[in-house]
Amino acid sequence: MENKIVIDGIFKESVPILTKIIDAGFEAYFVGGSVRDYLLNHEVNDVDIATSALPYEIKKIFSRTVDVGIEHGTVLVLYNNESYEITTFRTESTYKDFRRPDSVTFVRSLREDLRRRDFTMNAIAVDTNGYIFDPYQGMKDLKLGVIRAVGNPHERFQEDALRMMRAVRFAAQLDFEIEKETQLSIGENAALLENIAVERIQIEFEKLLMSSWRSKGLQAMIQSQLFKYCPELADKKEALHSLISDQISFERAEAAWAFLLYKIETHSLNKNFNPHYFLKKWKLSNKKIQNTLTLYYGLKTRVENQELNPWNIFNLGKDAALGIESLVSHLDQESKHDQVKRIYDNLPIYKKEELALNGHDLMKKTTKKPGKWISEALESALKAVVYKEIPNEKESILNWLDTENKIPYVNDRKSLE
Ligand code: ATP
Ligand code: MG
Repeated sequence: MENKIVIDGIFKESVPILTKIIDAGFEAYFVGGSVRDYLLNHEVNDVDIATSALPYEIKKIFSRTVDVGIEHGTVLVLYNNESYEITTFRTESTYKDFRRPDSVTFVRSLREDLRRRDFTMNAIAVDTNGYIFDPYQGMKDLKLGVIRAVGNPHERFQEDALRMMRAVRFAAQLDFEIEKETQLSIGENAALLENIAVERIQIEFEKLLMSSWRSKGLQAMIQSQLFKYCPELADKKEALHSLISDQISFERAEAAWAFLLYKIETHSLNKNFNPHYFLKKWKLSNKKIQNTLTLYYGLKTRVENQELNPWNIFNLGKDAALGIESLVSHLDQESKHDQVKRIYDNLPIYKKEELALNGHDLMKKTTKKPGKWISEALESALKAVVYKEIPNEKESILNWLDTENKIPYVNDRKSLE
């Protein structure tokens, strides 16, 4: 590759920002993931800018800034309705406990800054004219499709063990090979992952699951034993293995997690596998856990019964039901996408709240104390309406509940009229 590239697109739009910093007497470069993705012709949504200017100096240059991560040297600059993250050249000198350090040391040298970056492909800088500064031969590795630690991999993984997860994630995202020494070093340092906050591991693992070359990342995780130090995965090697052969691409992260849960359950010898506990251990947000479990249980029902019935589809909602149909096509079952869509479109109601009868209506018909019977009666009415056994009208529902003996028939029952 040449040592000069054409500055285009979002990079070109960002040049005035760098120029302002340079005009104030400092250095400024495009760096990091945005440069990597640009060189790979991938879509770039945000540029990473590195500078010799200290955060307070950046704040003097631009009138509108936000301190997003000033202790790490990052200032957000608002300019022409866009925002730019600008990070001061830094080293991370004081590593403790194999974790990213709390404090950083600012430096004035780009080379020093690139040295603390994780992989050669992420340690390339480009100036406003498109000249490439690449002291660690990242361009060469990009061309070879290789993920290689900057410098000594042992040292780099001991400084920050998350980098091992980043390596396998990048392998999955980019269809790259992890360079031999780097891969061996992950094998030797895998246990250090235990020092890393689960939330950070989760972000990388989720990106891996969502990647086009997921199997590549999973293989690297298995080969290096990295999976053993991820939450609740130590004894799930078979499940991870079974995910390798799947060419599935997930539309949403929840679908990826649900599919993983399904694989774990089918490959688990332990019949007490608890999906909720598993997701909690991975520290997913409660909302994500709920959505994932909905998909997971829906998927199980779908596989067991060979299809989703109107009641399942009503409860799941359109997106989840269709999501499940795309998942089953990877479990040796034919997707019934069109059938599900047709059933959904023909549902008489789409939400519980649309039922023409509520608990108050029921209570008016009897003096029996409110209790579980109310929710049970409403649920059976809802089901009957969903199946179009009765129209969604208050009187029809009440009459139906009456004939089905769903309203307590006690002496003090009020007239239904
Ligand atoms: P993504 O496409 O997911 O954003 P990225 O490489 O841009 O990937 P970021 O977390 O945005 O990842 O980080 C930007 C840059 O900062 C990286 O390209 C790399 O140079 C550096 N970096 C990020 N995390 C680490 C780390 N744990 N150790 C060393 N350098 C890192
Ligand atoms: Mg990035």
